[in-house]
Amino acid sequence: MADPASESAGDDPPQLECRRCGRALQPGRGDLHVVSILALADPYPPVFTEDDLALDVGSEIRNLIAHLSGLDAREAQDQVYRRQVFPLCGACYHDWIDDPTGSGF
Ligand SMILES: [Zn+2]
Repeated sequence: MADPASESAGDDPPQLECRRCGRALQPGRGDLHVVSILALADPYPPVFTEDDLALDVGSEIRNLIAHLSGLDAREAQDQVYRRQVFPLCGACYHDWIDDPTGSGF
């Protein structure tokens, strides 16, 4: 599926399906929402304990490099930043926006 947010006016409308229920959507008819979700790994400054500071920094860096060398660039990026853009039909949007985490609150 093409990124629905990147389509420009005047192009043929993209063929879209509701990501949740699969219903065919007709862009430009007002019966869909495009949802954009941005997920970031903990953006707060790291907290270090005395135990952390007592560790061998060189060893910790080598362990981190070994861990990262096993990942491709996409996997590494997905661990810290992920963006999802998808269409929802009106009914699914209204259900989703009221409880986006599925927690029932
Ligand atoms: Zn739907």
